[in-house]
Amino acid sequence: MLLSRFPRVRLIDQPTPLEPMPRLTQWLDCGATFWVKRDDCTQAAGGGNKVRKLEYLLGEALSQQADLLITQGAVQSNHVRQTAGAAARLGLGCRAILERRVPDTDRDFEESGNVFLDRLYGVESLRYVAAGTDMTRELAAESEQARRQGRRPYVIPGGGSNRVGALGYVECVFELAAQANARAIPIDWIVHATGSSGTQAGLAAGLAAFGVDAHLLGVSVRQPRAVQVAKVRAEAETVLDYLGCPHAASALDVEVDDAHVDGGYGMAGPATLRAILVAARLEGLLLDPTYTGKAFAGLIARARAGHFPRGAQVVFLHTGGAPGLFAYRQQFEALLGSDVLKPS
Ligand SMILES: *Cc1c(COP(=O)(O)O)cnc(C)c1O
Repeated sequence: MLLSRFPRVRLIDQPTPLEPMPRLTQWLDCGATFWVKRDDCTQAAGGGNKVRKLEYLLGEALSQQADLLITQGAVQSNHVRQTAGAAARLGLGCRAILERRVPDTDRDFEESGNVFLDRLYGVESLRYVAAGTDMTRELAAESEQARRQGRRPYVIPGGGSNRVGALGYVECVFELAAQANARAIPIDWIVHATGSSGTQAGLAAGLAAFGVDAHLLGVSVRQPRAVQVAKVRAEAETVLDYLGCPHAASALDVEVDDAHVDGGYGMAGPATLRAILVAARLEGLLLDPTYTGKAFAGLIARARAGHFPRGAQVVFLHTGGAPGLFAYRQQFEALLGSDVLKPS
């Protein structure tokens, strides 16, 4: 099919589950039915959306005989952790540059969660830089240094977001459409967290390329709506060109909700923390404070506002991130004893 000509390393050998969320559906009681696509269960490296991207990125890396992966992210980056895990699995080295993007952090944030796992996976180096650093330049410098050391580096951009990584989410559309088909349900909405944009760009490109008629709603974790829409749209067009179906660009459907950033990137405000508790206590799901908690808060808010029509089938794409919970342990403390399910 469309994707078979691109080199790929298999890190996931079966579809991630598409599960109903009956208790959430009942709790929201808006006439729509809610599902969760479990991309937190992408097998490798603790799971998460970066694994799908890494299948194609590492396919390219291996085709270039790389022996070292270099990437970047925020201190609690899930992407860096998944890259470190995938590198370990393939016997490649991994070096990462971590931007101190989140202010006023505590010891759990600095040392636990994803940072701990990066070290557990045996990264060669974690280099910390200040917030606002030009990360693209840092990646180039790191790569140049590795080359001088006789290594063959492959550079992966932040979040694995480029036309290669996004192919993983084109693939996800295909997988999801087959699952919905098998259950004889339409997919009316896909709701997910959008950050470095590769996930939403891949999904948008996949929906357009396969002619799947679902609304795609990204809940922004950082950027204002207009900025994120433009970024995702541009990247989706690049992906469609790469796939060889640029004509599908006219069908691109990209919507972004920026009302749930909740204090800024990596900041976990009360609405985010509550949404995480709701998902845990209604469906046994582990969400995270930087991405999926915000996306879930957006899903709840839209359902409460009557945004999803009666009878609609809504899929929440769970993009992972649970290891990041341990970096925010203190912020949860005050809420753990409260009844977040009681109607307010
Ligand atoms: C990276 C990430 C996202 C955002 O995906 P992008 O492709 O960067 O937009 C969402 N959820 C989690 C848990 C992530 O780690």
